[in-house]
Amino acid sequence: MIRFNAPVPLAPFPARISRLQELAYNIWWSWHPEAQELYQSIDPSLWERTNHNPVRFLREVYLGQLEAAASNPTYLARYDRVMIAFDRYMNATDTWFRRNHPDKADQVIAYFSAEFGLHEALPIYSGGLGILSGDHCKEASDLGLPFVGVGFLYPQGYFRQYITPEGVQEAVYDRLNFPDLPAVPGVGPDGREVLVGVELPGRTVYAKVWRIQVGRIPLFLLDTDVEQNAPQDRELSARLYGGDQRIRISQEMMLGIGGVRALRAIGVHPSVWHMNEGHSAFLGLERLREFVVQGRPFDKAVEEVRNSTVFTTHTPVAAGHDAFPFHMMDEFFAGFWPQLNIDRDTFLSLGRHDQPWGPTFSMTVLALRLSGQYNGVSKLHSQVSREMWHWLWPDRPVDKVPIIAVTNGVHTDTWLAPQLADLYSTVLRPDWRQHIDDPATWEPIANIPDEALWSVHMELKRKLAAFIRERDWQRRRRLGPLAEHDIDPQVNPKALVIGFARRFATYKRATLIFRDMERLKRLLNQPDCPVELLFAGKAHPADEPGKDFIRQVYLLSKDPALRDRIYFIEEYDINVARHLVQGVDVWLNNPRRPYEASGTSGQKAGLNGALNVSILDGWWPEAYNGKNGWAIGDDRSYASQEEQDAADAESLYSLLENEVIPLYYQRDADGLPHDWISRMKNSIMTIAPNFSFARMLKEYVEWLYIPAMGVELAKED
Ligand SMILES: *Cc1c(COP(=O)(O)O)cnc(C)c1O
Repeated sequence: MIRFNAPVPLAPFPARISRLQELAYNIWWSWHPEAQELYQSIDPSLWERTNHNPVRFLREVYLGQLEAAASNPTYLARYDRVMIAFDRYMNATDTWFRRNHPDKADQVIAYFSAEFGLHEALPIYSGGLGILSGDHCKEASDLGLPFVGVGFLYPQGYFRQYITPEGVQEAVYDRLNFPDLPAVPGVGPDGREVLVGVELPGRTVYAKVWRIQVGRIPLFLLDTDVEQNAPQDRELSARLYGGDQRIRISQEMMLGIGGVRALRAIGVHPSVWHMNEGHSAFLGLERLREFVVQGRPFDKAVEEVRNSTVFTTHTPVAAGHDAFPFHMMDEFFAGFWPQLNIDRDTFLSLGRHDQPWGPTFSMTVLALRLSGQYNGVSKLHSQVSREMWHWLWPDRPVDKVPIIAVTNGVHTDTWLAPQLADLYSTVLRPDWRQHIDDPATWEPIANIPDEALWSVHMELKRKLAAFIRERDWQRRRRLGPLAEHDIDPQVNPKALVIGFARRFATYKRATLIFRDMERLKRLLNQPDCPVELLFAGKAHPADEPGKDFIRQVYLLSKDPALRDRIYFIEEYDINVARHLVQGVDVWLNNPRRPYEASGTSGQKAGLNGALNVSILDGWWPEAYNGKNGWAIGDDRSYASQEEQDAADAESLYSLLENEVIPLYYQRDADGLPHDWISRMKNSIMTIAPNFSFARMLKEYVEWLYIPAMGVELAKED
């Protein structure tokens, strides 16, 4: 494996705690709260101002504060404990992967993704796909997979969301200051920084490679902002999902083709190539080219590439599948296909997808043709995908289309509130973190005293309320006089608090609950049974209907009749998500079935004891058992969207009115909602193991990665 390279020292540093610098450059800290506390406790407000980023924190902290910590025995005891745990983690040889696949330890799995959502301090993700990729890296590290990630370090990231007093979403692009990031230049075997080139029309575009250490595994991120490039090419990787189709195809060529070249230059030789979504599918073309250059006939090369490639598709929404017109393929690839010893037609047929408006070159078709193992991200989504792509396997019945299901999960330590982890630890086996995916591990959750679970839950609700107030205060400060009519938001921790946060893609129907305003007002304002709705989410800057949904929700949150019942929290990111999933009572999810491929935010909430109220879409049909939350509607199909929306809204209202709100407010003599708490426990016990990233990644290993390694399966312990 590629060794962890030591970061650049920041400055002269108090020797006794000098390893704070090394730790800052391994985002192992992002899922170890005790490591974050080593920074936070030195200066809590600086920790907030630096967006919980230890590298930036160390660049800005005062020497005197570091020296005070270095002479504080309590601090030093904590410091030593964390460093021992960190070393033990980094040096462990007894990992799950090694125990189960000792003969595969020298293989490398390369995982390509357009976005990685690891932490709020690294804003290079937009939504669920990115969070999943970030969790994938963390779990690959935990399980000890021989694994590397490949993506982009977008200097302007995704956008920051400001909402004007009129409810208009403004996209603000900050420029990341790279020296503040936990990233170091990627180097080759000769110790020199790596620069890779990809031929785009009329010129070669270069990318530098950054390296981010995620526990035991490295993540390599491309960046085209280098002096060898013309100004517009320096901006090529500036933004995630920004720009037109020409930018998009250029970025995807950099990711797929440049990504392969980057790994070669660094000296990494993967045996499995995982394309997470079609964005990176050009990597298959580059690998074909490598084989053909070595003298392999084209057909043989295709076979080799397919055998070692895994593809995960993530959406049944047609617009989520990139496709380029043939004239654009001619312009960008005319110099490429001759290197494969094939003609234009053979080349274009690799990705050809005929649409009513003509033939296109689809990244998903290319990915399906150049992989040997494929999966969707829930059982329902895989079934929908088999129907969608059946035409690529015309001689098979639809249920024999080989797209299997690996249902998404979440990285437990990233999303579980530390306060709850401590409480759970009082009843779970001491080594529960090594057995997260085993349902038996979680059975003792039933033994937690109700008042203990409720008291931690209330503490987290109060924390969420304080967070929202602080966020809103910052917003009002930014808006100045424009915000003069805004009130101080006071989320009431005693109210039933419902969270809805996700990308504002229209199929997710953020405004469904507003279909009948009078009914909603009654429902939110019942005397003695207040209900509050918290919303957060970004719409893609080009998605006008999505932005209109935000405007509607925002304006309703300022409606005097709803003012202290509905809140919109700006700038949905990992930090906001963490507070919400850990602090709400109910997590609402009402997509238009079957467009939610999986959904993962409800898994995060369920792990923290929130009850899901969800359409039976994505992961929820696999999780819902009648006792761990509620199902909106059923699994019927509808003749029209209007009919579906009306039926789902009706079902949602009646669930809230007749079941959810009464159960929450049904208190026993001790003031606790014992029946509610018993559902919380059921939610934790069922969702924590089955929708853990540990369960998910082990399935990727056994069902997809090991088969792609081409040797027979080893045994489970
Ligand atoms: C978990 C998460 C998502 C994905 O949520 P879905 O339920 O899949 O929509 C998106 N954004 C952030 C910031 C998240 O934490």
